Amino acid sequence: MAKKIFSHSRISAFEKCRLKYKFRYIDEIIPEVERTIESHLGSSVHKALEWLYSQIKQKKIPSVEEVIMVYSENWNEEYDDEITIVKKNFTKEDYFNKGVGFLINYYTENHPFNDNTIEVEKEILINLDETGEYKLRGFIDRLAYNSQTGEYEIHDYKTSGTFPTDEEIENDRQLALYAIAIKEIYGKEKGVRLIWHYLSFRKKIHSERTNEQLEKLRENTLKIAKDINSTTSFPPTKSSLCHWCEYKKICPAWGNNFEKQTKLGGFVKLDKKENGDKLDIFK
Ligand code: SF4
Repeated sequence: MAKKIFSHSRISAFEKCRLKYKFRYIDEIIPEVERTIESHLGSSVHKALEWLYSQIKQKKIPSVEEVIMVYSENWNEEYDDEITIVKKNFTKEDYFNKGVGFLINYYTENHPFNDNTIEVEKEILINLDETGEYKLRGFIDRLAYNSQTGEYEIHDYKTSGTFPTDEEIENDRQLALYAIAIKEIYGKEKGVRLIWHYLSFRKKIHSERTNEQLEKLRENTLKIAKDINSTTSFPPTKSSLCHWCEYKKICPAWGNNFEKQTKLGGFVKLDKKENGDKLDIFK
């Protein structure tokens, strides 16, 4: 029986725009440059925090200057001039400095980092159905165990400039799915707390899910995964999100097409056999 492995981003792409889903996961078209400045900032900050906690796990607390140095190195190594800046009133330097501010604030507010981090960038795999035919893979930014409350904590860093509503937090699927995985590992009776760090706002949001809510979520996610497998219809969904969509240049909803764009360069079709893993590069 062939296993079907999904990711949260794959499921979200299908829900937001089926055409975008088709470009990436069925036609296997990967833009050579597909990053926006926001995603570059997010990735550089995540890597700096990953490094910080990997040091803490080895009982070393780096200085804030060292954290900024790692951030700066990541930023420069992965920056290229084709990264898209959609908001024209901001420069590359503005975004870089934003990241510096996020890290300084985070460091100051969380020092000396004694919340018992167990793992960083922890990979998890959840069975969505009983037979294990449908699975979901993801990565937890940071997993901690709070020995005072006896709860596991799933930490997630957000660098976006949008603050979620209470409803969005209550319905957030990604961390709740990861909570299913943690309960599968450590026991269903264990408490799991979901914690988002909204770095732009210097705010931490906490939430929890009951076992019943998690079971319902697993069922709903399985249903979407089965829809993905069986659908043959992939219409575009035009929205403000299109401005950040890496496929806009080949999207017929915007009067473009793949053939015209490939002549100009910038898009590649993956070799399925060699590059299948790259299709799920987004968490
Ligand atoms: S540009 Fe918009 S409509 Fe077109 S694929 Fe992207 S998200 Fe969908």
